[in-house]
Order: sequence, then C-alpha cells, then structure tokens
Amino acid sequence: MLDSHNRGLICKLPVVPLFWCNNKEPNGADFCCSACKLTNLGTAYYFCATCRKKFHKECVESPLEIKHPSYPFQSLQLYSSPFALVNCICCDISFQDIIYHSSNHKLSMHPVCAMKPVPIFIDHTKRHPHPLTFSPREAFLPCNVCGLIKESILTYVCVPCDFVVHQDCLYFTHVIKISRHHHRIIFTSSLPYGKWSCGVCRREVDNHYGAYSCIKCGDYFVHTRCALRKDVWNGEDLEGVPEEPEIDVEPYETIADGIILHFSHDHHLKLEINRVYDENKFCQACILPIYEGTYYSCLDKCEFILHEACVNAPRKKHHPLHTHPLTLKVVSIGYDHYRRRGNYFDCGACKRASCGFVYDSQDFSLDLRCASISEPFQYQGHKHPLFLALEPDEEKAAICQICQEDGDGNNYIRKLNCMECKYIICFRCATLPYKAKYKHDKHFLTFREGEEGSDQLDWCEVCEKKLIYSRKGGFYACDDCCTTLHVDCLLGEMSLFDGLNVIIAGASSFTSRSLLF
Ligand SMILES: [Zn+2]
Ligand SMILES: [Zn+2]
Ligand SMILES: [Zn+2]
Ligand SMILES: [Zn+2]
Ligand SMILES: [Zn+2]
Ligand SMILES: [Zn+2]
Ligand SMILES: [Zn+2]
Ligand SMILES: [Zn+2]
Repeated sequence: MLDSHNRGLICKLPVVPLFWCNNKEPNGADFCCSACKLTNLGTAYYFCATCRKKFHKECVESPLEIKHPSYPFQSLQLYSSPFALVNCICCDISFQDIIYHSSNHKLSMHPVCAMKPVPIFIDHTKRHPHPLTFSPREAFLPCNVCGLIKESILTYVCVPCDFVVHQDCLYFTHVIKISRHHHRIIFTSSLPYGKWSCGVCRREVDNHYGAYSCIKCGDYFVHTRCALRKDVWNGEDLEGVPEEPEIDVEPYETIADGIILHFSHDHHLKLEINRVYDENKFCQACILPIYEGTYYSCLDKCEFILHEACVNAPRKKHHPLHTHPLTLKVVSIGYDHYRRRGNYFDCGACKRASCGFVYDSQDFSLDLRCASISEPFQYQGHKHPLFLALEPDEEKAAICQICQEDGDGNNYIRKLNCMECKYIICFRCATLPYKAKYKHDKHFLTFREGEEGSDQLDWCEVCEKKLIYSRKGGFYACDDCCTTLHVDCLLGEMSLFDGLNVIIAGASSFTSRSLLF
C-alpha cells in the first residue's frame, strides 16, 4: 500500500525500509503518522530511516479488506484517497490519505480506529457497579447515559440491570461547568418527574436517561452530549475541585454623589442627563451615540462619555458564547488581538471590527453590544424568546431572517433562533438599535424588517437612492415625518476619532437596545 502509492505523498522510496521503533515509544506530542496524518498512538510503529517518517503499524500493514467488531456482517475496503466531507465515525477527524470505507453502509474509519482492539468486558464501577459486556447487537438501543442511539460507537450492556451504555459515555466527566449556565452541573442517571427541556439545545430531555443537572437551580437540565460539546464545555473536570467564590471587581469607585472614577479613565466622571442629541458624541465603550437617558462625562472636559449602562458593565463576565470567563478591557494602542497589535478588534459574535471596550479571553473577543445578549433574548422585532439553540453545523448554514446571510465558513456570524417558529437572526442584525436618531428628524426612527412584495417609491434621505422595502437588511423609518433611511446610510455615516486613528465606524456603530434604554 505505502510503496505502491503513485502520488508519492506517503513515502517516495520505491522500496520502503521500515524498522520497528517500539523501543522508542513515540510520545503523542511529536508523533504524526505519515500515512493517515493522525497524531493518536496505535499499538506499534514503523519508521523509514531514509525519509525519517513514522507510521502506525496499522497503516503499514493495513489489509485490503477488514471487518470491524461493531459491524460483524459487513466488510470495509481500503482506499488511498480521502472521501470529501466525511469524518471518521470513531474519532470524528477527517481523512488525509488512507481510509477504510464501506460504501453501502456509509462507514468510514482510519486504519488505527478500525483496528483498535475492542475489550470484551469493561469494569468501570464509577458508572455502573457490575462488569459490562461488549454487545454490538444492542447498538440500536438508546444508551442509559446519553439517551441516544449511536450505532457507530461501541455499545456495552449489563444484562441483569438492563443497562446499555456507549463506550465513551462510560468515561464522561461527572462535574463540569458549561458556558450556558452560571453554576456547575453534575451528571445524574435519572431526572425527577416532569417535562424538562435541555439548557443548550432547548429540546426535551427524556427523564428515563441520564443528563446533567444543576443542584442549585433544581430545574436546569442538559442532555449529556449537549453538555459535552466542544463549544459548550472547556474540557475541565471539576470533580473534587473546590468551588471558589468569584470575586467581583467593581468597574468604578464612587467619589461623591453622582461622581465616579471608572477603571477606563484617569479623571472623575459625572452623571448627567442627556437632553439634546449630539450626533458627534459617542459612548467610548460601545461606540454609539447617546440618544437619551443618563450618561457619565469627564469632569476634565476631555470628551470622554459613557452610557450609564456601559459604566456598569462588570469587569468579569461569563458569556454563553464562550467557555472561559471574559475580562472587560479598554481597546487602546497596543491592544493584543490574537497576537496582532492594534487599536481595534473583531467581535467574535457579529464579526464587526470595533474599538471601545472589549470582553476578552485568550482567543476570543466580544464587543459590548454582543456581550449584552443573553438567553432568553427578547428581540423587539419578534414575539417569541430567542436562544442559542442551533448546533454548530446548523448555525453555520442557517440564514438570518433580516440580512439573508449565513456568514462565511468557519468564521460565521453567530445566530439566535426561535424554538416556536423558524425565526433566525444573526448577532449583527439582533444588535442593531431598534430606535435610532437622525439629525434632521426630531423623532426617533424605528427599525423595520424588509417585507416581500411591498416595494413602494420611497427615497433614502441621505443617499437619495430608491429605498426598496424588500431589500435585505431592513431600513429605518419615522412615521410622523415619513422619513426613510437605509441602515448603512443612517448608522454608517458616523466616523470616530480616537486621537490617532480615524475609524470609520460604519457597520461597527450599532448597539442593542438593552444597553441604551
Ligand atoms: Zn496511521
Ligand atoms: Zn451514550
Ligand atoms: Zn440538548
Ligand atoms: Zn443553576
Ligand atoms: Zn455605551
Ligand atoms: Zn459583536
Ligand atoms: Zn442578519
Ligand atoms: Zn441611503
């Protein structure tokens, strides 16, 4: 297989001299099989002394046809080119070069995965008090731990107890903290009587099977596999780890009545009430104008203003979009954005470039508008509550009702969905201000979704081009004055001076209503 490989990708030599290298057990960090490109360890290895490549024994010795213990009635054939868009049913990793595949049963596996020895008995008393027996015939039964039928995962049973379990479900972590709930959750083998919905996917949790639950809340449950999703849990096992109380760092110090010292600014700030809308003044945290209500301004007259809501934004925050706690920072010159220094960042939810304040952790940044969204989210333009209930693949492909976009590839814009109807909205549209001001109109303009087939002849006040009501992205209108404006023409004309750089606020100057009012 290896030396007959005509593209020469695996090993170029016509005769491949391979030696056992078992005496030097490769450690996971520096091993990568040159045939299957997996870094997980097999049972033994080959090594080519000339081209210095290492191989799994399974990949080198792979027979043209094998049978997998989970599928005793079908055989898998060896292929040398990857099948597009399929992942290994065992490890969920894609294929680079070498694959076992059964076309009529849609099974695909890496050689190491297909030939991994299957233990007939497992004794894991932490999950079940009796020894368990490998039972491929029981794979069509729902697992007692996760409640799902997963034929591709090895299934074990305890016949006297009528206990069915997937091999990986046996080793699930008991105590974890997920991004979607503020307390730790604990695995429980059965749920109290009642109708419960999963705190992640919002679908029903069957109380006959295991799930995670919150001891403090009593009514918070999550499907086992939903809780263990990579985007929901950071992989930390908290069993036996004492729970430390979180220390709240106040974002400001009160100096006198209505006067504060905020962590983001060197001078004292004074509470004021906005009476006249000034389109040139922006809150330095969320980069939005202050339309109305209370705000803080610098007593040293340095044009530094903050919405009252932005002043109160906590220094530390747990957000459902990220598995690690986020810290509130001021984006200034030298802000380290994924090891790229600058005075702006790309928000991880709406993907807009922004400046101002940022909630960040090592590899994730969130602007204040997106950080203010939590579940359930009451969007003013929709009658039902919205959730982050789409699975990653669904969310990637989902199309926003308003802008009609799905986002690009893995860098997709995050989306919220409705569990009662098919409504889906992206973070970019969900954080557009519902009410906004236009300098030549004394009223508030409200956001309208584009409506199919209702095109009338109206014009945008700013660009004087026709406003098409069915145009994706919606528009702003004032009914009293019949003013209509494109979203970008109203909100995109603002530019922000931060002293050194001019940032054309454009698409980055939106906010959610919850921050403003
Ligand atoms: Zn390999
Ligand atoms: Zn399971
Ligand atoms: Zn779920
Ligand atoms: Zn709770
Ligand atoms: Zn603000
Ligand atoms: Zn954002
Ligand atoms: Zn959208
Ligand atoms: Zn316009």
